[in-house]
Amino acid sequence: MNFKLKSRSVMPPQGWVYREGKTGWAAPHPLSKSFDTQVQTIMSHRAANPAFALSKDKESCEKALEDYTCHRLGNDPNFVDPADAEAIQDVKKNLAVKPSLGQRFATAVEHVVHGVERIVNDAKGAAILTDWLGSGLEPVDTAYAKRRAETCAKCPKNVPIKGIETAVAKAITEQESVREKIGAKLPSETEDKLQSCEVCGCYLKLKVWVPEKHLKEHTDVEEFPANCWLVDELTNTRTYMTSQRQQDREDILDFYKKIPDRTTLKKRRFTPTHTLTNAAGGLGDTLILTDICKASGGTVPVYSQSRHFPVLMDLNPYYNKNLKTTPEFLDAPTAIVTYDGGNGHFTQRLRRLYGLKVDDKPQCQIQVKGVQKKERVILHFDAGTHADWQRQHIHPRARMLYPQNKAIIEKFIKANPQFEYIEVGQNPEGIKGAIRPPEPDVKSMIMTIASAKYFIGIISGPYHVATALGLKVITVINFPDPTAIFLPTLKPITQVEMEWFYPQNVHLHQDGEGKQVKRFSLNNLERAFAGDIYPYWSDEFLNLIHEEI
Ligand code: SF4
Repeated sequence: MNFKLKSRSVMPPQGWVYREGKTGWAAPHPLSKSFDTQVQTIMSHRAANPAFALSKDKESCEKALEDYTCHRLGNDPNFVDPADAEAIQDVKKNLAVKPSLGQRFATAVEHVVHGVERIVNDAKGAAILTDWLGSGLEPVDTAYAKRRAETCAKCPKNVPIKGIETAVAKAITEQESVREKIGAKLPSETEDKLQSCEVCGCYLKLKVWVPEKHLKEHTDVEEFPANCWLVDELTNTRTYMTSQRQQDREDILDFYKKIPDRTTLKKRRFTPTHTLTNAAGGLGDTLILTDICKASGGTVPVYSQSRHFPVLMDLNPYYNKNLKTTPEFLDAPTAIVTYDGGNGHFTQRLRRLYGLKVDDKPQCQIQVKGVQKKERVILHFDAGTHADWQRQHIHPRARMLYPQNKAIIEKFIKANPQFEYIEVGQNPEGIKGAIRPPEPDVKSMIMTIASAKYFIGIISGPYHVATALGLKVITVINFPDPTAIFLPTLKPITQVEMEWFYPQNVHLHQDGEGKQVKRFSLNNLERAFAGDIYPYWSDEFLNLIHEEI
């Protein structure tokens, strides 16, 4: 069934919006461009991305923009005409119901009016879907979708999907196939209660997975009842979150304004004649070396005697294996406590010591290709022998998971069966509800971590791996004092661990609570998953490291 625009010279609602599904690119300035100039932009984008093998001739790009617009508008008859016999037939079927309006059979009239409203509403649902489809269909987190679904399940606007009109039924079928494609599913006792939203015409089993940014462009919150999660997310929560986030910024700046700099550090810059290395052979210590390869474009040599070095560099796309080591070595852990590398994370300080550009987001550099992300949570609480020194000198229970908190994790697992839980490490805690697949080597553990979306664990090698692979990481800590942890680390201060904490991760403290770091509890674990705890799974605070204090 094909549709075409009535006119390419009439600007449709919201302009010539276009998203390239395969690349995730959105065509800029949809309102200030004509059909023809937007087609030129699409042609240029496709030509600049030959790896995606998209047709870049004018005719194909015109058709792409026309089809996208028809679909985005839900084939709105004000802008779109049917272009083949099947489409004409479909339109006729939908028009055929109109004559009953105003006739004497009140129930039939009501039914038809309702049906037409649903078609109009369905166009909004289709617009949301088209927008999301174009951006690659990344769903929201399961905890988020579950919270939305529980609200819909109790809402009177959650109505049965009846075969009232062809267009709606067809759209629902399409939406169901999209939901199957993203593979996102809630526990059946929640999902079975989801039907269709009477207000927007959306298939709720799919809608609860759509990220807020795609919903807000096509949603008029005034149409929805006050109890609706959309109203909460698009108005109340935003107001709350905006003020909370402003407060978070102020708290971070205040803390660092009051605390003195570490003045003993020596000033010195290193050059690529210094091979970066590490005396310690742990997984995390060795992973730290991977980032300089990216920052220097492969011009700084790196080397380690660690058995993990070849495995990690094999997964590091920036490692230049042809670059020879030099006679001058720089031991990374010694350099960080001896020389002034400025603020931020360990990797950011190393970059400064070499005079290299510092990214806002600190991250070690390994990539794993071809592993599909699953609704999985990795657990890791095996501190190994590295914690012995900390237990003698810093905290008697350094990097231990307290028994009461192990019980909390087990409760969380029981309450959230939508995830699969995998415990990694040579000496697992034996957390109930988690599986422990065989781990023949470090590479297979890295592959397991790469397949998950979340990580809960202590600071350890797997914690660095999870952060490098972009998982949402909940770090379980018990030192330093939670009232004195503010991330990112805006100054080189003497506080232990401050160069090891990644500011993009959530930190839950087993001994107490501060403004930014919350206590480890079931409620806070649930909130962390839902993005309610600093930094809210957001990167918006990372650029604070450039702030002048
Ligand atoms: S109005 Fe909101 S809460 Fe109610 S069914 Fe629709 S989306 Fe769900």
